Amino acid sequence: MNKALINIDYTNDFVHDDGKLTCGEAGQVLEEDILKITKEFFDNEDYIVFAIDLHEENDEFHPESKLFPPHNIRGTWGRELYGSLEDYYQEIKLNKNVYYMDKTRYSAFAVTDLYIKLRERDIKEIHLVGVCTDICILHTAIDAYNLGFDVYVHEKGVASFDKAGHEFALKHFVNTLGAKVVD
Ligand code: ZN
Repeated sequence: MNKALINIDYTNDFVHDDGKLTCGEAGQVLEEDILKITKEFFDNEDYIVFAIDLHEENDEFHPESKLFPPHNIRGTWGRELYGSLEDYYQEIKLNKNVYYMDKTRYSAFAVTDLYIKLRERDIKEIHLVGVCTDICILHTAIDAYNLGFDVYVHEKGVASFDKAGHEFALKHFVNTLGAKVVD
């Protein structure tokens, strides 16, 4: 184990047609590739993190309450992983290399134990898939850059509801964060 795959927010609310804050088709077409990448990391005994947005109902103090409709509410269908990724997660969730964690801000590092989990395992290289490219993937990549990780973003594994934002973020990963955008 020397790499980690951070699987970010690929949930019904962010991807499914009936999701509360969905990327729609742009997100749905990632399903096969995210599954494939996740299986590759699992089979290679790398560390797999599911970093999943968590909100409580009627949380008036959360800054996103002013920005977005309610989404990824604890215990709801909307917060379950989308499609075949949910099935695969159920299959592998008890493995020691699989870690499901809640996050309440865009970045998977914001007030979570992700940093120490990675340090404990001596992991320097992290790979990102999920949604949205220009929100949670971007904020996670920025924190990873500041914390000294080598960052890889899988182009076929990220999407946004905002095409211009998606394209901006892909450039920003490479030109400003020194990340690698890979297939
Ligand atoms: Zn959120």
